[in-house]
Amino acid sequence: MKPFPRAEISVSALQHNLAQLKLVAPTSRIMAVVKANAYGHGLLPVARTLDGVADGFGLARLEEALKLRHGLITSKLLLLEGFFRAEDLPLLVLHDIDTVVHHESQLEMLEQAQLAKPVTVWLKIDSGMHRLGFTAAQFEAVYQRLLACQNVAKPVHLITHFACADEPDNPFTLAQYDQFCELTQALDGDRSLANSAGALYWPQTQRDWIRPGIAMYGVSPVTGDVGSNHGLVAAMELKSRLIAIRDHKAGDSVGYGAYWRAPQDTRLGVVAIGYGDGYPRNAPSGTPVWINGRRVPIVGRVSMDMLTVDLGPASSDNVGDDVLLWGQALPVEEVAEHIGTIAYELVTKLTPRVSLFFE
Ligand SMILES: *Cc1c(COP(=O)(O)O)cnc(C)c1O
Repeated sequence: MKPFPRAEISVSALQHNLAQLKLVAPTSRIMAVVKANAYGHGLLPVARTLDGVADGFGLARLEEALKLRHGLITSKLLLLEGFFRAEDLPLLVLHDIDTVVHHESQLEMLEQAQLAKPVTVWLKIDSGMHRLGFTAAQFEAVYQRLLACQNVAKPVHLITHFACADEPDNPFTLAQYDQFCELTQALDGDRSLANSAGALYWPQTQRDWIRPGIAMYGVSPVTGDVGSNHGLVAAMELKSRLIAIRDHKAGDSVGYGAYWRAPQDTRLGVVAIGYGDGYPRNAPSGTPVWINGRRVPIVGRVSMDMLTVDLGPASSDNVGDDVLLWGQALPVEEVAEHIGTIAYELVTKLTPRVSLFFE
């Protein structure tokens, strides 16, 4: 018997989404971003599903990349923030892991290292995000130092990240794109700019490698949009069950703080999921869940292990019925909008109490 709450991850949805992204960016290779436990979907099982199908995997931490190598993943791996310490460099060599270089400190560590083999480097250009990367003014000197460094494999690859690609009307993305192109025009090496929003909404930015994260999981990066608008299929179904149903009188409150009161006589359902599972405590009354083919609103405060929903006076739901918190029938994008966050945060923040099932 499967426990609940649980997150069911659809292998066929992941495969479908990757194929769909290949259609969207037919001349690009795909660096599937699987950082943060594959956005909460399970690092190793997702990578195993996509190994050899995606052209590489993007990660945020060396530990994540090592987990993939220890799990016998053979695809290209790229550390999107690069290495943090000089001791990391021999591990990059040993396990054939590409690194971003975004900061002078990394450049110095590379120059001073004694390595058995050169490391494959992606030089990060700050084209407007102003978080990581070298500015246009620093670029030429840094590029020359990388070319001169024996620990750096040639050619040096080129990467940047968009700040506003999820805003389809914001011209900032094209300004970033133009700056990146101008700086890198005459150079060898692969180019990578586009995250999911870039790949979906700014096709000219796709270039050699796209780096989709959220879209691979079937979710749109754009507010007010859903993955299915792009032929994507939600890969995660977050499910739990009704563990109690109770008649509830008009005017009665429910839950901690007793702040929601029923406007009419109704039936409340208690669902076995709460903030201890990663369902946000700040989900307001009215946030939908999906029960027996319809949207039903959360009422009252989300507790650690439970939340309550207003099933309505005519409800014929039963204890033991399935509850979908998000998935194909109830897009996580829609739930995120109610909660005032983004789908990325919801899927990434599930706690270990939620078991993942690949099917
Ligand atoms: C996380 C990340 C991505 C993926 O972003 P999505 O919006 O999930 O597609 C791509 N590139 C970099 C550098 C990242 O950090």
